[in-house]
Amino acid sequence: MALLRFAEDPSPEHFAALPFGPGPVGLGLGASVHRFVPAGELADPSSWILDVEEFNGWAGPFDLLGFLADAEAAGHPVAVTAGPHDHCAAPPWTHRPRRRGSTRSASSRPGSTAAWSGSPSTSTWTTTAGSSWCASTSGRREAFATIRRPRPDPAPVHGLTGAGAGGDRWGMTAIRHDWSVEEAFALLSTPFHDLLHEAQRLHRERFDPHVVEGAILLSIKTGGCPEDCGYCPQSSSWSTGLTPQPLMATGEILAAAERARAAGATRFCMGAAWRGPTDGQLERVAEAIEAVSALGLETCVTLGMLDDAQARRLAEAGLDYYNHNLDTAPELYGEIITTRTYQDRLDTLARVRAAGISLCCGGIVGMGEPREGRAGLLAQLAALDPHPESVPVNLLVQVPGTPLEGTPPLDGIELVRTVAAARIMMPASMVRLSAGRADMSDELQALCFHAGANSIFLGDRLLTTDNAGDDRDRAMFARLDTTVADEPVRRAQELAAGA
Ligand code: SF4
Repeated sequence: MALLRFAEDPSPEHFAALPFGPGPVGLGLGASVHRFVPAGELADPSSWILDVEEFNGWAGPFDLLGFLADAEAAGHPVAVTAGPHDHCAAPPWTHRPRRRGSTRSASSRPGSTAAWSGSPSTSTWTTTAGSSWCASTSGRREAFATIRRPRPDPAPVHGLTGAGAGGDRWGMTAIRHDWSVEEAFALLSTPFHDLLHEAQRLHRERFDPHVVEGAILLSIKTGGCPEDCGYCPQSSSWSTGLTPQPLMATGEILAAAERARAAGATRFCMGAAWRGPTDGQLERVAEAIEAVSALGLETCVTLGMLDDAQARRLAEAGLDYYNHNLDTAPELYGEIITTRTYQDRLDTLARVRAAGISLCCGGIVGMGEPREGRAGLLAQLAALDPHPESVPVNLLVQVPGTPLEGTPPLDGIELVRTVAAARIMMPASMVRLSAGRADMSDELQALCFHAGANSIFLGDRLLTTDNAGDDRDRAMFARLDTTVADEPVRRAQELAAGA
């Protein structure tokens, strides 16, 4: 965030923290506006002002620094990372310049333009396609900033009445919390290609469509759960052959977290099969959270119901996310779980939010629910204010011995529709394609990513069931020109909170 800090306070100290090299720096916005200034001159904020002839309807002086600061103030934070960045090295949405040292612009698809200019040591990438701004200066010292730019009114899409309605000053679609079940149902029923088009459009407003976030989930206490969730092999109500395991020692958890980090995960999720933890159990989990956080990983736990003091204790331990799924629509909840109520779920979510912890909250599809049930779940999730920062969409994994074994499988296209609707209704949230990937084709997953899913669980196991596995994921993402993020996508949470 060095660039942002400098934007807010252009002091010599903050300028010195910028990742610019000694050579001239190119500033640009759009393909036709760019100029170079000596790096030292950028200490003067007035040197950041561009004389824009035309950029998305903008003409006249354009204050790049002010733009960045305003974006942050409006809840659209600017992410700046120093070091090599995929976007700088190989922008995925444009052609590479054929000849270095020249100035070129290229267009790879309608509305997408990019410009490259300068020598390898002083170059600027700008694009009007990916809402991103990218400056590279000398060799490996690069800065990447994602900015929000004024956009023309979005083109209306057939059949979508309101998904793209409204918008903030940066042209991004407004965040809504008033989706009715009927609207959600209409969205799910939108002609497929229109639905995916709109989901992809909204996805690109806030996210890089070529990047997914990777987390790894570990069962730190397995089985023997007193709850009777009909989908879960860990419930002591069902005979699934699962051998219960006690709470793992912190050292074991830490070793697994180190392996997760080495495998490329940026978030480490820990699940315990409890109705809710005792205070003693919570202390042990808090200890694990502190240890895992010290590795530089984001942390997430799912422990069941919490009281206020427990939520605060987890926040004190530095917990980033608490997972607590709503599972399904309120009307269907009693058919899946009888040992707790929907309101119990909402109460814990409110406690977690009040403690300042980000929410990971989604549901499960394919439990035999009609489309109305998926609409009801999505409307509930979208009614949370702010939206959950992470929204897992799980496809039921049918485990022998559970009551939901034998449920007619959900049509894959219906899963894609659900992901797309989640993206449209919660445009700033990370949408995680979670359980069920092991049984999905690469093609079905590709459609889900195109529909706006941008997060997955890595690894071979998800709590007690199989996951796709790293080798298969690696091959799939290579086919999809997609990378797993090498740093947490924190801006989703900030966007959700500030929108
Ligand atoms: S989903 Fe969680 S609460 Fe429900 S039975 Fe499984 S472990 Fe227990």
